[in-house]
Amino acid sequence: MNFELNPEERDFELEVERFLAANHSDDVMDANPEQLSQTVETPAKRVFMGKLAKQGWLGMSWPEEYGGAERAGIYDFVLTEALSRVGAPQPGKGVGIVGKTIIRHGNPRLKETFLPQIIRGEVEFAIGYSEPAAGSDAASMQLRATRDDARGGWVLSGHKIWTTSAHFADWYWVGARTDPASKHGGITLFLVPMDHAGLEIHPTWTIGDERTNEVYFDDVFVEDDFVVGEVGKGWTYICEALDLERFAMLPVGPHEMKIAALCDWARNASRDGEPVRDDPGVRSVLARLVAELEVARMLQRKVISEALKGRIPTVQAAMYKLFQSELGQRVANAALDMMGPAGQLKPGVEGAPLDGRFERSYRYTVVDTVGGGTSEIQKNIISRRGLGLPKNF
Ligand SMILES: Cc1cc2nc3c(=O)[nH]c(=O)nc-3n(C[C@H](O)[C@H](O)[C@H](O)COP(=O)(O)OP(=O)(O)OC[C@H]3O[C@@H](n4cnc5c(N)ncnc54)[C@H](O)[C@@H]3O)c2cc1C
Repeated sequence: MNFELNPEERDFELEVERFLAANHSDDVMDANPEQLSQTVETPAKRVFMGKLAKQGWLGMSWPEEYGGAERAGIYDFVLTEALSRVGAPQPGKGVGIVGKTIIRHGNPRLKETFLPQIIRGEVEFAIGYSEPAAGSDAASMQLRATRDDARGGWVLSGHKIWTTSAHFADWYWVGARTDPASKHGGITLFLVPMDHAGLEIHPTWTIGDERTNEVYFDDVFVEDDFVVGEVGKGWTYICEALDLERFAMLPVGPHEMKIAALCDWARNASRDGEPVRDDPGVRSVLARLVAELEVARMLQRKVISEALKGRIPTVQAAMYKLFQSELGQRVANAALDMMGPAGQLKPGVEGAPLDGRFERSYRYTVVDTVGGGTSEIQKNIISRRGLGLPKNF
């Protein structure tokens, strides 16, 4: 197995790195990803997306007919990793989930309306699957879509939770129940303008100070043209998009930066008058984290390698997601252990090591093990699909 980038891919990586150095901006980049949350939108970030679009880097793997370059999905991955290493915003759900699903299943109106805007980096989407009684088991969603033949569309009523970016997105990519009699076959995907008068958005603040949202639907009318693909096929499209999206999963770049920052701190800090770097316990923990970072990188490459062979890397992606998100917690735990009580001081408080970066990271990384499928769900996938274990044993 050789997981290294080939010469063309490496050239592309260098090209992206040169671009990022030339376009460095403190307004849109922050090597401390816990500080500049991906869930905060600013005009500067949109301008930056426009620059990525001008480089031809949004939708690189799309067909040429829709403005893409038909490049292999690994180029999307190389771009995402390079952006994450400097804390720059990454192409959102538009290019991956929404764009690729519309290309495969969307009607001409959806293609004309959304694909050019996505590839120019002009539009943001929020994803609405989760509900109070439908999280890990998202196919239990109950938000109701009722047929309105007179107006030629559907009326949506109900309640979504955990919709990240609903407070700044332009469009809502939302799953709703069109047939209560069929669990998986009764779900349909819709596109709803986020400023629709029937939508009410309420913030939910996570333990990591990140904003996500609850969204209430009060008779929200959606015309037939804004149904994605066929009625009743929403669950198939949701699963397919997850598979397509495995290239754009959590990058390892942020862990790389955090471990480097922690090593730097340990090199220079002292505790009770002794240099931290001389503590064998600290050295051993740091060595372990650096080795685990390598493991995460290899698991990630395995996902990509499977996908490039045309296989669906469900099990490999579950292994990577589980290891990567829990490594984030292990790094933060180790930092707080090494720093002692001062490590609990919050950003901005005098005396906080690394300005409280790891205090925040300790809270923020918990969320990563929940969003996108909890650790337990990843373990279920590995045990059943990977190891062939029975459901109840
Ligand atoms: C910050 C954040 C952002 C999010 N953003 C979005 C978004 O933009 N759009 C969206 O649609 N959703 C989003 N989510 C929702 C996310 O996908 C769900 O939170 C997640 O799937 C878990 O669902 P739940 O919270 O309802 O927990 P539950 O499913 O109720 O799970 C509760 C506990 O039970 C465990 N559990 C559940 N089922 C099983 C099982 N079969 N076997 C073993 N253990 C099990 C879980 O691991 C967990 O520990 C976000 C969540 C967070 C925290």
